Amino acid sequence: MPDYQLLTELLGLPQVRVTHYELLGRDRIRLAVESTVEAAVCPDCQLVSFALHETSKAQLIRDLPIWQRRCWLPYAPRRFKCATCQDTCVERVLWREPDWDYSIRYEQAIYQRTRREPISQIAESEQLSEDIVQGIFERGAKKHSTPAATRS
Ligand SMILES: [Zn+2]
Repeated sequence: MPDYQLLTELLGLPQVRVTHYELLGRDRIRLAVESTVEAAVCPDCQLVSFALHETSKAQLIRDLPIWQRRCWLPYAPRRFKCATCQDTCVERVLWREPDWDYSIRYEQAIYQRTRREPISQIAESEQLSEDIVQGIFERGAKKHSTPAATRS
């Protein structure tokens, strides 16, 4: 099995390991990542579970560009099973919010751009729809308007 430690280091995301890469055309790359999270906290009884239950289907998470290639991370979230209540729960990772198709750092980079560039220009250069860029702007604006987030 090839060792993707170098790509893992260059990617620089916490709690992931690169397991595969694929170049798509001249301007896209996919880096398949695997979570290194070893446990999940059961939302019902708050106990930590180390028992891996299953790995879900891979999702494509957009991340910051690498070597001027637009970058996606195929990532399959894992489920853990709580030993106490037998419920399963999805792992929480530091780099992506649940059910969101973008890494947190990608979202932050796009949000920063929305503060100085027109939405349409960002959408075009990132090949996103204007609705998505608008959505990222609104989410970011909401977060940055909370009192706790105003001090940086
Ligand atoms: Zn539980």
